[in-house]
Amino acid sequence: MAAESRTALKSRRTLSRRVRERISVWRRLFVLNWNLFKASRIGVVGLAIMIAFVIIAFVVWRISKMFIKEAPEAPAAPTKTCPFCKQSNAVDASKCMHCASAI
Ligand SMILES: [Zn+2]
Repeated sequence: MAAESRTALKSRRTLSRRVRERISVWRRLFVLNWNLFKASRIGVVGLAIMIAFVIIAFVVWRISKMFIKEAPEAPAAPTKTCPFCKQSNAVDASKCMHCASAI
C-alpha cells in the first residue's frame, strides 16, 4: 500500500517535471521567434498588411450587405396531419409518407 502510493507520487512528480520542461521549451521557442519577428521589418509590415486586409474586407462586406435586399419569406406549404402517426403530409396525399396508412 505504502509502496504503491510512493510510486504514484513519484510518477506524478515526474509528470509535473515533464510538463514544466515542456512549458520552458515552449517559452524559449516563443521568445526566440518573437525576437526574430521584432528584428525583421517584414514581420511588422506583414502584420500591418493583415490588419489592413481585415479592415478593408469588413468595410466591403458591410457595403455589399447594404445593397443586397433580403428575399421575402416563402409561404409555408399547406399540410395535413396523419390521424395515425400525427406527422404532416401534403394536402393532396392519399397515403401517409411516414407510416404508409391511407389518409
Ligand atoms: Zn402516418
